[in-house]
Amino acid sequence: MSKFDYDLFVIGAGSGGVRASRVAASHGARVAVAEEHRVGGTCVIRGCVPKKLLVYGAHFAEDLHDARQFGWDVPDCRFDWARLRDNVLAEVTRLEGLYGQTLDNHKVTVFKTRATVIGPQKVRLADGKELTAERILIATGGWPFVPDFPGSEHAITSNEVFHLDALPKRVVIAGGGYIANEFAGIFNEFGSKVTIVNRGDAILRGYDEQIRDRLLQISMTKGIEFRFNAPFQSIEKQDDGSLLVHLGNCEPIPADAVLVATGRVPNTGGLGLEEVGVELDAHGAVKVDETNQSSVLSIYAVGDVTNRIQLTPVAIREGQAFADSVFGGKPTVVDYVNVPSAVFSHPPIGAVGMTEAEARNKLGTIRVYTSDFRAMKNVLAGRNERALYKMVVNEATDQVVGLHMIGPDAPEILQAAAVAVKAGLTKADFDATVALHPSMAEELVLLK
Ligand code: NDP
Repeated sequence: MSKFDYDLFVIGAGSGGVRASRVAASHGARVAVAEEHRVGGTCVIRGCVPKKLLVYGAHFAEDLHDARQFGWDVPDCRFDWARLRDNVLAEVTRLEGLYGQTLDNHKVTVFKTRATVIGPQKVRLADGKELTAERILIATGGWPFVPDFPGSEHAITSNEVFHLDALPKRVVIAGGGYIANEFAGIFNEFGSKVTIVNRGDAILRGYDEQIRDRLLQISMTKGIEFRFNAPFQSIEKQDDGSLLVHLGNCEPIPADAVLVATGRVPNTGGLGLEEVGVELDAHGAVKVDETNQSSVLSIYAVGDVTNRIQLTPVAIREGQAFADSVFGGKPTVVDYVNVPSAVFSHPPIGAVGMTEAEARNKLGTIRVYTSDFRAMKNVLAGRNERALYKMVVNEATDQVVGLHMIGPDAPEILQAAAVAVKAGLTKADFDATVALHPSMAEELVLLK
């Protein structure tokens, strides 16, 4: 008999925590998980899933418009935000149920409450109950970071954006990253007037420059406005309930909603980690080694709370690797090289591997191939929107070290192509593959 209540106590039932709980339990561990919000975490409840559904909803604006060129009589359409919002939230609730069921099926005990760490092998629930576990896994994810400025309480974050009572006529978005560009596309398609306000002069830092420029150009053509080098100064509530956003270097902007999307911080506040000796980095992230172990040997961490790569599939891999290594006798280390990523902007971006600039710095001599084209569908629709595919090749080995694309379905195409990059295939391998015609993806094997 173990002297502990559980073999594993997981704090946080998001992507990483649920995967770790389920897999550890399937390896025979007695597992409990505590979740203070909703089972499913950021991705399922207030992130990737509801966002992607809104992206689909938003895209109908263009599809309905373009349908006329394809022979369809489309009457004037009206968009009902409340209906889409409620359908999306219902789907989120359904998925939350499925995640809960998965845990139940694996006999994982779920505490729907906050848990804090009070010892290397001890946690306390919000009702004061104390439980022991041989190992504790911190999987509490991240939380939107809101810079400190007067009136910041009038802004919303990605936590609240899915619940808006009404569609704002004018939206100001702070930040130029993933969330800013994705929601700019969503609101713009729904008919809101969108302004992105960025502290620097570039959007989507980390993505290839040409691809970022293309998104900026297309977004501006679609009517999204940008303010660069414009730090947020304050948000002032007006008598009529609207907001006035004051910026450095720019005129104030009136708005009905202000969305702050200036990054996410690890969710470690008040968890009791430092008190028991767990080292955090300057951003509050749990410092872990490649086995996900913290400075306290019985305490591990996976996912956004470790601030390695803030992506759901990475958290899932880390949760799986932790459970397989510690409970399954199968030591596994996550490989962070060539992790594909996407921005679900309008149009979307997909990328894997090195950008042109990174490759030049790291490899010296490289070859770059681009295809700048108008998707067949856009041509008939009369939509003057060009896709851009870019391949970065190591001159010395002919290996494809980076693929970057913006255009319809770019994330879908990129996911498949990422297999080739991960496998270390060469430009010659791409060239040897016969094109699948007519498709957009065929551009990848026709690059000259
Ligand atoms: P990002 O890190 O993508 O972008 C943050 C933006 O805010 C940047 O433009 C940054 O500017 C700016 N910024 C940062 N700090 C401040 C500040 N103090 N004042 C003003 N501006 C600031 O963060 P998001 O919030 O968009 O998303 C959070 C994370 O969630 C992402 O990093 C990503 O990992 C994940 N995510 C992934 C998605 C996907 O995979 N499709 C979708 C949504 C989120 P600068 O460039 O100058 O630093």
